[in-house]
Amino acid sequence: MRKPIIAGNWKLNKTPHEAILLADELKRELVDTTGVDIVVCPPFVDLTDVSDALVDHDIAVGAQNVFWEDAGAFTGEISAPMLKDLGVKYVIIGHSERRQYFYETNETVNKRLRAALKHGLTPIVCVGENLAQRESNKTFDVVKDHCEGSLSGLTKDEIQKIVLAYEPVWAIGTGKTATPQQAQEVHIFIRQLLGKLFDDEIAGSVRIQYGGSVTPDNIVSLMAQADIDGALVGGASLKAPSFAAIVKGAKK
Ligand code: PEP
Repeated sequence: MRKPIIAGNWKLNKTPHEAILLADELKRELVDTTGVDIVVCPPFVDLTDVSDALVDHDIAVGAQNVFWEDAGAFTGEISAPMLKDLGVKYVIIGHSERRQYFYETNETVNKRLRAALKHGLTPIVCVGENLAQRESNKTFDVVKDHCEGSLSGLTKDEIQKIVLAYEPVWAIGTGKTATPQQAQEVHIFIRQLLGKLFDDEIAGSVRIQYGGSVTPDNIVSLMAQADIDGALVGGASLKAPSFAAIVKGAKK
């Protein structure tokens, strides 16, 4: 039985002061956290304050990226040991905005993923096609390429420590969510691929989130799909009531 996991990606939003207010509000909204793993991923500069605000709560803190080296002459980067030291538990890797605007490739995603695993962070690895790729029937090819490239060389033990997020780029921040059926057919495709790359038992244990305009109104129908194990939420994670409603809707 896979435990649902809801993660909020705050992207480039919330100053430290605003982040503390949101974290405090989430604590009030989310008193019962049983049956679902909850994660918030603020910008790097908010991580200390949000970790402190949530120290006595089950909401875990994640980062939005991580560099692959532990330390050294890499101006502007943040390493996995630095995140660990702050109490960070998760890290989003390979989000489509990083692939699109910051030239992330499967290779760099793989390096970041390995660094995260080496230091005991749980990676949330994003894969998904853009609109042109979907319209030219390339969805499965792209998702296969993202999965195979990003997860390259992982052991059976390591693959069980990650969370995957299927995020069709055309659904991110657009209000155009994939239908539950569209999402499910890609989720089952990913699970079958994991079966081939690793084995069926492992494929059945890896959690696969859906991401792309998830709201309190569509979370229940998405979660009703057999292979959707949670959501990576952007816009709707910036307001405590909507994020809390999504968490509540995710309890299968
Ligand atoms: C995201 O940023 O991963 C995302 C899915 O955003 P939104 O929920 O706003 O579409």
